[in-house]
Amino acid sequence: MSDCLFCKIIAREVPGSIVYEDERVLAFNDINPQAPTHVLIVPKRHVASLSDLTEDDDEMVGELVRRAAVIAGDRGIAAGGYRTVFNTNRDAGQTVFHIHLHLIGGRRLQWPPG
Ligand code: AMP
Ligand code: ZN
Repeated sequence: MSDCLFCKIIAREVPGSIVYEDERVLAFNDINPQAPTHVLIVPKRHVASLSDLTEDDDEMVGELVRRAAVIAGDRGIAAGGYRTVFNTNRDAGQTVFHIHLHLIGGRRLQWPPG
């Protein structure tokens, strides 16, 4: 989608601090990190939000979630613990409407979230 920030990062039209890439998935550091590790994992194909997924996307969602676990393992935060979050729409604070999985960790996290 031409006016989508994350599509522009995927297309290298906007710089991103990329930590992983394959044919279907890109992961990059959040520009405003909320913890020592704060990585966004996105599909290269534009999907606006969790609510826009279809059955055809099940494999892609699995890849996002599995990639978060692999990055957490690579960073040495898996045993200590980490959080994975999809914010969806206004009340959850979604600001970028290209689906993204937040991987947050490297410090003790509070629960419940605000
Ligand atoms: P959300 O509020 O769940 O939609 O998350 C959007 C995230 O994108 C926020 O955590 C922002 O800090 C992050 N973000 C915004 N612009 C950029 C950018 N250019 N590069 C990396 N992360 C960004
Ligand atoms: Zn997009």
